[in-house]
Amino acid sequence: MRLRNVKGSRETIAANERVIQDVAAHKGRWHELFGNDHPIFIEVGMGKGKFIVEMARQNPQNNYIGIEKYSSVLVRALEKMEAFEGNNLWFIRMDAEYICDAFEKDEVSGIYLNFSDPWPKDRHAKRRLTSVQFWNRYDQFLKPDGRVIFKTDNRPLFDFSLEQVEAAGWTLENYTFDLHHSEYVHGNIMTEYEERFVAKGNPICRLCAYRDKQGQICG
Ligand code: SAM
Repeated sequence: MRLRNVKGSRETIAANERVIQDVAAHKGRWHELFGNDHPIFIEVGMGKGKFIVEMARQNPQNNYIGIEKYSSVLVRALEKMEAFEGNNLWFIRMDAEYICDAFEKDEVSGIYLNFSDPWPKDRHAKRRLTSVQFWNRYDQFLKPDGRVIFKTDNRPLFDFSLEQVEAAGWTLENYTFDLHHSEYVHGNIMTEYEERFVAKGNPICRLCAYRDKQGQICG
């Protein structure tokens, strides 16, 4: 993703009450922040937030947390919040490599990965949000019946992800190489990147994965 520095974005984020500053303090206590016991869903690498803001708007019975690495991108999501009246959405600016610092065992009901950065070089494979290393992280805090849903137009990344799901001991519930011509398109909320790629005619791949047992490692 090409990143444009947005002047003052760090300060804006530090001052915004919708962005959690002390993430570790909320680990295991996110429900206190939301003020209810509704299930918590997260999007990792949410970009400018179109998907998660719309999810939160359409599903007031759920709680949402959007995670984004860069302040310059997260400020764009905050702009969308100006027209958002719900109380079921918060943001974290962090590198997902440290995601286990944010959530306790069984704290999260679902994880969305949308158009994650492909990191095409082999030596960077561990950074892909669908690498075995990340499945092991998700394993630490996703509820036993929780699901991870991943969308991308990048076929090599998708093929890699299908392999990594199984290598990590997870199970594919379903997948498609052409979401928009499949049964899974019903209720699909488009992300910023998805809109762009669909307009170009690129097929969108999607997988849904779960696991039966929780692991022990957070690598
Ligand atoms: N999900 C959005 C969409 O579909 O429109 C944005 C997709 S964009 C290609 C990938 C986003 O993931 C970028 O905003 C990037 O900064 C973020 N990202 C990449 N690696 C990350 C990481 N390790 N932790 C948190 N965010 C990350």
